[in-house]
Amino acid sequence: MVVGEKYRSKNREQIIVEQPYHIQYRHSFGEVSKFFKGLHEKKLYGTICRGKEHHMSGEDNLFVPPRADCPECMVPLEEWIELQNEDIRVYTFTTMYFSGENFLDKLPLTLINVEFPRYNNNYSKLISILITNEKDEINIDKKDLKIGMKIKPKFKEMPLEKIDASALYFVPAGIL
Ligand SMILES: [Zn+2]
Repeated sequence: MVVGEKYRSKNREQIIVEQPYHIQYRHSFGEVSKFFKGLHEKKLYGTICRGKEHHMSGEDNLFVPPRADCPECMVPLEEWIELQNEDIRVYTFTTMYFSGENFLDKLPLTLINVEFPRYNNNYSKLISILITNEKDEINIDKKDLKIGMKIKPKFKEMPLEKIDASALYFVPAGIL
């Protein structure tokens, strides 16, 4: 039955026509465009604020995903740093047995918070996906997943006009 069919009047003739409908979306990545361009180029970028004298932690603040402004200094952030070769670790993880439509075929799925131990991480607990059985990579059993495990970023091929955060995922990079 066509949606709405049961509400159609039986007593009056109604004309129903069909035609294609097209919407052109225009989406701006705004001040953090470099992060998304980086995903397209297989690079992981964050923003950093060097105003540590203003920071509660007394350290430089790393922002991943990036922020355009430092919420502690209230200044625009001009400095970007490339992170894919950094020491990157699992801060915490969980297993999803249900998800939105895009991930239904990948369940169960390991969601991780990513940590960059070299930096103050108050603003850089990136949420991503850990693939433990990626072809040509170090593979581990899910039961051996550990907090603090070394990981490295990987990037799906995605055209720039389709790019989003799902282009980024992580794989084990070694043991602790
Ligand atoms: Zn700051």
